[in-house]
Amino acid sequence: MQKYIYMKQDITKFDNHIYQIDVFMENKPGRMSCYYIDSSNPILIEVGPSNSFPYLISSLESLGINEVNRSAMTHLHLDHIGGIGHLVEKYEEHFVYIHELGLKHLPNPEKLWKAVSDIYTEKWLIENWGKIKPTPIDKIKTLNDNEFIDLGNNRKLKAYHDPGHAKHHFSFYDETSKTLFIGDTLGLIYPHGNFVQPNLPPPDFDKELLFNTLEKFEKLELNNLALAHFGIHNKPYELITNAKESIEVWIKFIENLPESSNQEASVIMEQWVRTNYEFLGIDKETIDNYTNNVHFEMQVAGIRNYLLKKKNP
Ligand SMILES: [Zn+2]
Repeated sequence: MQKYIYMKQDITKFDNHIYQIDVFMENKPGRMSCYYIDSSNPILIEVGPSNSFPYLISSLESLGINEVNRSAMTHLHLDHIGGIGHLVEKYEEHFVYIHELGLKHLPNPEKLWKAVSDIYTEKWLIENWGKIKPTPIDKIKTLNDNEFIDLGNNRKLKAYHDPGHAKHHFSFYDETSKTLFIGDTLGLIYPHGNFVQPNLPPPDFDKELLFNTLEKFEKLELNNLALAHFGIHNKPYELITNAKESIEVWIKFIENLPESSNQEASVIMEQWVRTNYEFLGIDKETIDNYTNNVHFEMQVAGIRNYLLKKKNP
């Protein structure tokens, strides 16, 4: 059996047996977190890209976990699900909960692969996120909105279908800890900042859908939001308000730009975002963290695509 004991590890334990595992996406800390909820019927939330898989397994093994039978994926973007094929191959009994589009794409991941390589190039993708393996269809369990996943010990996760960032997005609410595992729906928080940077990619970003989702979440009793990028944060209601404000501002900015290519717009946008952060008194390291880890051209494309859909429904 392959052992990963020499890999680097960064695990944070939270109350109620929740483990946040940094999977060192692109070999960097603080980029992608997976979560393990330890219960009599435990579950892993997110797997991360293929290249992160050894870090994930190394961390689980350091916790004495040598078998994981199921996982729940927030959505079908490759930085979240790239390693699924490895997961179901490693653990014989393993199956994954995911939106029904998973049935179509995970056994034949070529389309997912192509969509991302068109943006980042195939070379970048192989180097940074790694090749993906197909997942056999019998390892996939599709989710329904409001479905409960039983964790044992009188604990359950409630799955919410929450489109806006992606039409195939689900978030998972743990009533015991009052934690919402929110994937990419809220946006990004790097690394321990207390503000949210929007994440509005094409083809699915839709403000109305996203705001409906966030307003639904504001009505839940929340102690924490657990983001994929990155980590667990308290002050959930403030963060949701902050996310909504920033999304409005980003859309307005793009709407008011003179005609330009997405590439030209992305250069102007990046500078504008940096200046805003400087104006707010945010330190340079944090600003770099936020702005270097975003593909601005994709954000421009996502917002413009949404504006176009709204104009020509
Ligand atoms: Zn995403």
